[in-house]
Amino acid sequence: MMLSREAQADLLALLGPERAFFDDATRTLYASDETPRSCTPEAVLFPARHDDVAAMVALANRHRFALVARGAGSGNLGGAVPVPGGVVVSFECMNRILEFDPANRLMVVETGVVTDDIDALAASAGLMYAPDPGSGAYSRIGGNLATNAAGPRCVKYGATRDHVLGLRAVAGDGRELKVGSRTSKYATAYDLSRLLVGSEGTLALITEATLRLVPAPETVATLRVCYADNAAACAAVVRIMARPVVPCALEFMDSRSIEAIREYGGAEGLPEGTRAVLMVEADGDHDDVPRQIAALEQALAGAGLLEIQSGFAAADIKRLWTARKSLSLAVKNIAPLKINEDVVVPVARLASLVNAIDALGHHHRVPIVSFGHAGNGNLHVNLMVHGDDADEMARARACRDALVEAVLGLGGSLSGEHGIGSEKRHFVDRELDAGTLAMMRDVKRLFDPNGILNPGKKLPDET
Ligand SMILES: Cc1cc2nc3c(=O)[nH]c(=O)nc-3n(C[C@H](O)[C@H](O)[C@H](O)COP(=O)(O)OP(=O)(O)OC[C@H]3O[C@@H](n4cnc5c(N)ncnc54)[C@H](O)[C@@H]3O)c2cc1C
Repeated sequence: MMLSREAQADLLALLGPERAFFDDATRTLYASDETPRSCTPEAVLFPARHDDVAAMVALANRHRFALVARGAGSGNLGGAVPVPGGVVVSFECMNRILEFDPANRLMVVETGVVTDDIDALAASAGLMYAPDPGSGAYSRIGGNLATNAAGPRCVKYGATRDHVLGLRAVAGDGRELKVGSRTSKYATAYDLSRLLVGSEGTLALITEATLRLVPAPETVATLRVCYADNAAACAAVVRIMARPVVPCALEFMDSRSIEAIREYGGAEGLPEGTRAVLMVEADGDHDDVPRQIAALEQALAGAGLLEIQSGFAAADIKRLWTARKSLSLAVKNIAPLKINEDVVVPVARLASLVNAIDALGHHHRVPIVSFGHAGNGNLHVNLMVHGDDADEMARARACRDALVEAVLGLGGSLSGEHGIGSEKRHFVDRELDAGTLAMMRDVKRLFDPNGILNPGKKLPDET
């Protein structure tokens, strides 16, 4: 699908030169996301309203060009990377908060709003938008919706999907959708909002979202817990998740992570012999948080525990997070290229996953650093490689392949929160049976019969 002169003229007539760009500089700026992959789009469009999006979809169907939705381009699986001949639809200018309704604990936003801005406004009325992806300072809520983004708080509060009451969108065939409601209970229609969340711009362009807010906790306290090995830390995670007190963060750093921060900085204060760390947080009322922390400490105690440090004041909490916050920089010193696999297993199988990762790293001779949202069984498995070393890259590919098999063998899934994009879609038919995959292809055809929305993403090719 290429962009014809007629299509360009129609787009220009629709949006004007201030919102439809065809110049090289702009097109280059929107050629990639966080993946080391790029493809220059034919045009970059900046709709300002839902109606602009509806009209763009109509033009894409008439002239048969692909539309690739884009929030901030912070995705790391190529979801927002254009396809050849495709046109980027950037939602940056659709950034209005349309309604804030504390009494009904909801906010209606256009999908170009920055994630953290939603939480900040909610906080002004003692409320919280709970999903907290690490990229929230710049990611857009549309990108979060399209990938079902999540963060540390999601172990207690759920991921993006659990905070959506309703959506407004334009399907690939041009039909306009209003799904869900403004109420906290709803049992009327097929729940298409749950289908659109996580669909990575392949079914519809989401223009507005009605988001559920929850009461903000009065306070948060933190535990940094050091263990002698990965197995001891994983066993503690399972003990916690089997008990009634649910932490609002339960993050894991494996032994290779600890080696990296020991080598490159950030391990100050960790006791000798530490080979795995859990960061655990509890939130709630001032009176209740100490009780939760005591219960969590009890669950965390067990074989291999070296030290628990607690922090209730902001300065102490910041100090306890130092090791975890140093990790991203430290890891970059191991090798220049990070192949970031985001996988998830049932939480009771976390130790088996960590063991499998260790064995795969040794077998394929690839350094692997794993950390992540242990309370959800969701790990970021980072294969550290040199892109110009063909032999190492081949070993990394084989290792990644075997990792997928291991995850599926443990009853897990290809992605916990980053989605599939273009980078992981060739694995999808290993997880889904043929009948289910065929039904999903039918769904895609129903929403987008001409295949104009983000082709080459999410599902594997049919052939
Ligand atoms: C440093 C860093 C930390 C990160 N931490 C986390 C984390 O903690 N948790 C997490 O889940 N992810 C994380 N990510 C990944 C990424 O930030 C998330 O996937 C985020 O949701 C992407 O938002 P975005 O606005 O950048 O979307 P983009 O990358 O622009 O797009 C992502 C996908 O959404 C689609 N899309 C965008 N807008 C729309 C729309 N309006 N309608 C339909 N489809 C749309 C795109 O086509 C694409 O398929 C991190 C990334 C980085 C770089």
